[in-house]
Amino acid sequence: MAKDESYLIKPLLDRNYPCVSYGKGAALYDMDGKRYLDACSGAVTASIGHGVDEVVQAMYEQARKVSFVYRSQFTNEPAERLAMKLAEQLPGQLNHSFFVNSGSEATETAIKISIQYWQERGRPEKTLILSRWMSYHGITQGALSLSGHYERRQRFEGMLDRLPFLSPPYPYRQVREMSGVDYAEELDHLIEQIGPHRIAAFIAEPIVGAAGTALVPGEWYYEALKQVLDQHDILFICDEVMTGMGRTGKDLAIEHWDATPDIVTLGKGLSAGYAPLAATVVADHVLEPIQAGSNLIMSGHTFSANPLSCAAGLAVLHYVKKHDLVKRAATIGEKLIEDLQEIQTASAIVGDVRGKGLLIGLEFVKNKATKAPFPKDAQVAAVIVNEAQRQGLLLYPSAAGLKGEGAGCLIAPPFTLTKEERCELLGKLARTLERVEKQLL
Ligand code: PLP
Repeated sequence: MAKDESYLIKPLLDRNYPCVSYGKGAALYDMDGKRYLDACSGAVTASIGHGVDEVVQAMYEQARKVSFVYRSQFTNEPAERLAMKLAEQLPGQLNHSFFVNSGSEATETAIKISIQYWQERGRPEKTLILSRWMSYHGITQGALSLSGHYERRQRFEGMLDRLPFLSPPYPYRQVREMSGVDYAEELDHLIEQIGPHRIAAFIAEPIVGAAGTALVPGEWYYEALKQVLDQHDILFICDEVMTGMGRTGKDLAIEHWDATPDIVTLGKGLSAGYAPLAATVVADHVLEPIQAGSNLIMSGHTFSANPLSCAAGLAVLHYVKKHDLVKRAATIGEKLIEDLQEIQTASAIVGDVRGKGLLIGLEFVKNKATKAPFPKDAQVAAVIVNEAQRQGLLLYPSAAGLKGEGAGCLIAPPFTLTKEERCELLGKLARTLERVEKQLL
């Protein structure tokens, strides 16, 4: 094969991506030795940084014993232990884990379990799942059907289910201030319109990531929604694929509110990227009727509960606890938001800085006074992210605007980010914005 030929299908087919050589801590190095500060943990995933020896060692030891077993033939120790740890650590009665390989699969599993739950309870007509605009739950068909993400849906709209979506909690662009009660009323209205007898569950990311650039709902928001869901016998699925396992300064982001979900999905930070791993975690009261009924969850994948992935997940969980990293995410997140607000003041295009812990969003606008977004074809998020990468800084592009007309990026570094790395991040970001502003304005 000629040196410049590639047979790998990459996100942009004709683009020359740098080839990674290795990662250490919050940095990645390419084959030419260039250093990149990973300010977004890849896709908000590498939450304990790269190259942690304890995790690699745990995977090695597990691989020497056995790397794969099929879940219908064997259970395995790492999967059992990880499920036990999650039951101990997660709030309420969230005690039963179904391990899969991606966040999208975790969403699909949550959809199936919530429909099956109502079937086992003698209510088979409850099959619909409600969701919100500016949301992302995965790229597979069921998960994408529930995702209020304009751009990712567009090409496939013809094959997706389409229920009306609830408005997102988006203070920056609200025409009038909306409280939790206002959203609860809207949800109640939507449920009445469709018919509560047809709705199995409502799914939401507690803090919206890629589809909204770190949208943090206000106080009482989830308490108000949960009350409406309970009144109508509708399950609450909390999509913690991006927020889960410490990123926002609590194990689950929903713990910032007083509203315990019936089902939670986890991914990304669960194994911090050391191996593909995600989970659908269900509460006792959701599993009980299934156990008493058919006694079978009608879902699963060849690589479900993979011992190697679960060993990685266990080692990551242990590392996070040993170094008190959830607390660290909360404290360094607060500092980072303050620093980014200073960058916002100095910048002509950073319209909003928002987020919680180490899930922080910057929304870019053409005019800070009017909040007018850049035209879509300017591809602002891509321009900024690409310039940052040239500067040796990795940022994650994200959508903004009620109909995806805006642009932003996520700053979500590993929880282990040091003071020096924080300074490097801010310096490279300021330089990136300065260059891009010259180009765009
Ligand atoms: N849910 C949320 C909130 C996500 O952010 C993502 C991915 O970004 C997913 C689900 C889908 O996860 P995956 O890409 O692992 O399939």
